[in-house]
Amino acid sequence: MASSAGAEERLVVVGAGQAGGWVAVSLREHGYRGTITLIGDEAYPPYERPPLSKEFLSEPVPAERMAIKAASFYQDAGIELRLGQQVTRLDRHRRTLSLRGGGETRYDRLVLTTGARPRRLSVPGGAAERVLYLRGIPDAERLRDALADGRRLIVVGGGLIGMEVAAAAARRGLEVTVLEQAARLMERVLPAQISDHLAQVHTAHGVHLRVGAEIRRIETGPRDVRVHLGDGSVATADHIVAGIGAVPNDELAAAAGIAVGDGVLVDEFGATSDPHVYAAGDVARFHHPPLGRGIRLESWHNAQNQAIAVGRGIAGDRRPYDEVPWFWSDQYDVNVQIAGAAQGWPDPVCRRDPRGRGFTVLALRDGVPVAAATVDQPREMRAARTLLARGRPIDRAALADPAVPLAALVRSDRDR
Ligand code: FAD
Ligand code: NAP
Repeated sequence: MASSAGAEERLVVVGAGQAGGWVAVSLREHGYRGTITLIGDEAYPPYERPPLSKEFLSEPVPAERMAIKAASFYQDAGIELRLGQQVTRLDRHRRTLSLRGGGETRYDRLVLTTGARPRRLSVPGGAAERVLYLRGIPDAERLRDALADGRRLIVVGGGLIGMEVAAAAARRGLEVTVLEQAARLMERVLPAQISDHLAQVHTAHGVHLRVGAEIRRIETGPRDVRVHLGDGSVATADHIVAGIGAVPNDELAAAAGIAVGDGVLVDEFGATSDPHVYAAGDVARFHHPPLGRGIRLESWHNAQNQAIAVGRGIAGDRRPYDEVPWFWSDQYDVNVQIAGAAQGWPDPVCRRDPRGRGFTVLALRDGVPVAAATVDQPREMRAARTLLARGRPIDRAALADPAVPLAALVRSDRDR
């Protein structure tokens, strides 16, 4: 569909990460004719972050290999890329953006793709130099150096960052202790069966797991760092990595009077409460029509596909973004994938692969699959995503029979 914008319209994207990059690419691919400026405060053209908590921690991965497009793409597509520039203020009435260090930029339409940042430990001593966080390339370089220098690592948070970093560090031969406050690993995103499986895998690699851990304070010595825990014990290491969740960078929008609430609030087209402003990616809390509620996702799949949908919509082809949430995690040689929005994994059905080591868990609400998680079963996950997207009741007995491939259930459901 042709773009509704004329060549004189000026569109600015703030945040040149994965979502920002894909908004710009999608605008051009869908025929947007106005000028596009992509402003980001990092030094690199838009790149994908997944390698940073995985292979990047063992060996350097060139930024170009993580980039969503070659640097030359932006010039060829007529996208002005302004890197190393931070937007400090949004004036909705004048439709201008202020830049750190001075200068203003005008926009007709604006897309906020400012992502999220690591939540910081708020306990005494939590801001010490030996406490590291992970979001961008410089953080990952610092962490890789720390893993090369040190012998012992404490990981605070048994979530995605925590367990991927623990795996990378254990593989490099470090003594790793994970301190997780919840009763099990990745409790909010995984069913118990898969948490327990991952706990066994990490333990087999020598990782010391402590769940129910309450961190009271952190003390830095000349050569090490000590974590004082609620039960009176002390854990000691050369460095700490904290992966205790992410906070959306929604302050620009909030200060400008755009509706926010743990993220910038948008509808299924990415539109905010200001008709000239859109948002996508980790920063956006969007209305998800099939779920019937707002949701904020922090995943590669959402950063790409929601951004593509928002760019396409601005270019004139408006279709609601309603894809089934999906993400993965790689720890050692184990691949975990999660789809849907479980909210507690109700009525779980566990399918163990009779031929291999993998398994799948599906959660059902009123007989309808609402979430799926797989261990080393990428094919089953492809089928599960189709079942989740259809949102129809399923034959529970057939689902519980691992001899019946999920793909067969997809076919029989289609033929009904
Ligand atoms: P970001 O990629 O964070 O981009 C936002 C950009 O905006 C940043 O460059 C930021 O510096 C910039 N910015 C913010 N404020 C301003 C401002 N005021 N002015 C200018 N620029 C600004 N997901 C998966 O599904 N699978 C994985 O295996 C996986 N691994 C991950 C590993 C790591 C270490 C991390 C951190 C994330 C991982 N993710 C993974 C999640 C995925 O990378 C994110 O969901 C995705 O990067 C979100 O994209 P985004 O563009 O919304 O945000
Ligand atoms: P996360 O997945 O939300 O996990 C944070 C974990 O830390 C949770 O288990 C949380 O427990 C725990 N925690 C919180 N406060 C704690 C404390 N004070 N002490 C001990 N444990 C504490 O967040 P993350 O791992 O930090 O990841 C940050 C971002 O990177 C997210 O956007 C994530 O999506 C992204 N990321 C994604 C991947 C992937 O998809 N494979 C990989 C790496 C990073 P509670 O649940 O009890 O709060």
